[in-house]
Amino acid sequence: MLSRRTLLKTSAASASASALLPSLALARPDNGVSLYAFPLTAVRLGAGPFADNAGRTHAYLRFLDADRLLHMFRVTAGLPSSATPCGGWESPSTELRGHSMGHVLTGLAQAYAGTGEAVFKTKGDYLVAQLALCQRANGYLSAYPESFIDRVETGQSVWAPYYTLHKIVAGLLDWHVLTGSAQALTVLTRKAEWVRARNSVLTYAQRQQMLRVEFGGMGEALFNLYQLSAFPAHLTTAQYFDHAQVLDPLAAGVDALAGFHANTQIPKALAAIRGFHATGTLKYRDIAVNFWNFVVRQHSYAIGGNSNGEYFQAPNRIASELSDTTCECCNSYNMLKLTRQLAFTDSARAAELMDFYEKALYNHLLGAQNPSSANGHHCYYVPLRAGGIKTYSNDYDNFTCCHGTGMETNTKFGDSVYFHDGSTALWVNLFVASTLTWPGRGITIRQDTTFPETSTARLTVTAGSGAIDLRIRIPSWTSGAQVRVNGVLTGSPVPGSYLAISRTWATGDTVDISVPMALSVEATPDNPAVRAVKHGPIVLAGQFGTSNLSALPPLDPSLLRPSSAALEYTAGSVLLRPFYKTHGQRYSVYWNVVSNVPREAHYPFEEASGSAVLDATGNGWNGVLAGAASRTTGRTGRGVLLSGGYVSLPAGLLAGAAAFTVAAWVRVDVAASWARVFDFGTGTGAYLFLTARSSSGTLRYAITSAGSGAEQRIDGPAALPTGVWTHVAVTHTGNLGVLYAGGVEVARNSALTVRPSALGSTTQNWIGRSQYAGDPYLSAAVDGFRIYSRALSASEVSQLNATGS
Ligand SMILES: [Zn+2]
Repeated sequence: MLSRRTLLKTSAASASASALLPSLALARPDNGVSLYAFPLTAVRLGAGPFADNAGRTHAYLRFLDADRLLHMFRVTAGLPSSATPCGGWESPSTELRGHSMGHVLTGLAQAYAGTGEAVFKTKGDYLVAQLALCQRANGYLSAYPESFIDRVETGQSVWAPYYTLHKIVAGLLDWHVLTGSAQALTVLTRKAEWVRARNSVLTYAQRQQMLRVEFGGMGEALFNLYQLSAFPAHLTTAQYFDHAQVLDPLAAGVDALAGFHANTQIPKALAAIRGFHATGTLKYRDIAVNFWNFVVRQHSYAIGGNSNGEYFQAPNRIASELSDTTCECCNSYNMLKLTRQLAFTDSARAAELMDFYEKALYNHLLGAQNPSSANGHHCYYVPLRAGGIKTYSNDYDNFTCCHGTGMETNTKFGDSVYFHDGSTALWVNLFVASTLTWPGRGITIRQDTTFPETSTARLTVTAGSGAIDLRIRIPSWTSGAQVRVNGVLTGSPVPGSYLAISRTWATGDTVDISVPMALSVEATPDNPAVRAVKHGPIVLAGQFGTSNLSALPPLDPSLLRPSSAALEYTAGSVLLRPFYKTHGQRYSVYWNVVSNVPREAHYPFEEASGSAVLDATGNGWNGVLAGAASRTTGRTGRGVLLSGGYVSLPAGLLAGAAAFTVAAWVRVDVAASWARVFDFGTGTGAYLFLTARSSSGTLRYAITSAGSGAEQRIDGPAALPTGVWTHVAVTHTGNLGVLYAGGVEVARNSALTVRPSALGSTTQNWIGRSQYAGDPYLSAAVDGFRIYSRALSASEVSQLNATGS
């Protein structure tokens, strides 16, 4: 380890070396990107919830006393300070002290870029100048002594010294990039050289040991500095922070995140994608992509946040992980940073990525700031237990990490509304009231919208003209979207994609976007009865006043009624309103969805025409004919004829079922292996089906919650015959499944360990169609299709066979 004296010399030497830094003009282009952000200076927010949040954080940044923030930096540098120390995580005895300086610098830089107000520039320049004096005084720049670094390097207990240094480095970088401050780059470069010197004398093993302690986005900030400066030493230093224990499983495509502190890991994935942009190394890209897929698909709540008690839990545990410490706000702040970097990297995935961006932005971060506080006080966790309540920071006695990232989030809402491709393509990602002044093109476009309170937005070219390849995001949650150019319907919007409109635009041209929203419920993967309610992308929360609920409140979704206010519903006496607007009272985002409607249905197929397939039980499980499906003479009365089509039944028909029976009359017209009598599932991972003919020539029932390799089966002695009506039934309760044909048992399996409930709320419930796209459709007539929520007895099945449909 370097002695303190040696370090002083190293730092002094690097001060002059910084003069050798290339200018901004020599910045390295990013590898592997096809989309780019507009600078924050190009986007001004219009009136709306984002501008409201930004206004409160701007007020806080104006309010903060620079000398109080500088106090422990000056004390540590041996300089005089008479300021009142800050409290909370910035108190003189807290090991994380100093981290807020970086957040404030980033917040001031973004506020200045987003508004042009001089007050932010003045305060940030003062902070940087004073930090430069502190750095000059002792060659070190921190609000805690250098001994903290000794401790983390040698495995002694200390909070997270490099986490704190990262914030300062990132703040200086942002101040330089967004305001052009040369002094910030000088201070930053000296600091980066100090980090390099400190780490270059450690062995690989020593560094990997040290990296077990949270170190924030050191890697990301240093890759950014390398891209900015092209100074090779910064690349070396950035890669000192590649943490193999976490990165290697991710590179191998393994979700080993359970048990890891969530917000310690997200910045490592962010560093990885910037490492890919800096070096072109594909392993870095794969790490970032795999990490995002794992976190978004297997570790995220309905509001887009992740973590319980700050830790990643086992994959797909959501309903079982609802507490007062869910969804740390920093995590979503970092996930959004990662998401936009992945969109830059893979524009073909932009629709999916920006769907998530919107989800976490509206449902988590927008609602994490207290609208009642003039200074934008912020949540740390966002509780998702029933009866949870948001709690907030304060001016000087909190200073948590999330208070810090809140200053950043709320000063950069303009950074992902629009992207461009470096040429003429303009990507409209989010429906946020704003004005874009396209740098270098003399074109200004205003977006007017009150989304999400309404589902429309209008783009107007307010100045300039020229070719623009417009790309408008059509969210996956919409249906029936329409786009009009100067009032004329244009293009065919497809949910989950970007609609392209290429033309030469002139001042006054308008684009009206309509993305209708609908009510939906989203089940948790680990308990299909536990669901969140959404209107379009907006999560709605039950408003429970002062009631500290002891369990998830029950909800029958069929009772939800729109109220007179936008995005508000009632369910009996309970009001549901957007979670992002829920403050100052207890709430529930998740519900125990109960329904008195039996999960039983009977389809006699007696409709004479139309595509509706009515449930004769009156339970309302009505289906629909799809593709080549028509009416025909049935076993009794009418039936349905399938010849390239199928019958689609409602989602959730067997959700949570402990037992069931499906029975039907089938007249197979064409013997084709794997054609399904029925197949209920969510795709090729989880399903249960009855095929009239397996490739072994048998009638087969199968169920799996883990793909075809894990199917559990019952094989009959033969396939269903062709050309004759045959009654078939399958019953499944507990471990026992019984297969019937012609009213009698033909096979059974008493070792079925996969329960129907393990499939969750299946969404692809089909008569005549397989989850597998390669399987043939059933070519047959079907009649008297019945679903029961229990296993019928042999005599009951025999009775069905005896009585027709
Ligand atoms: Zn935090």
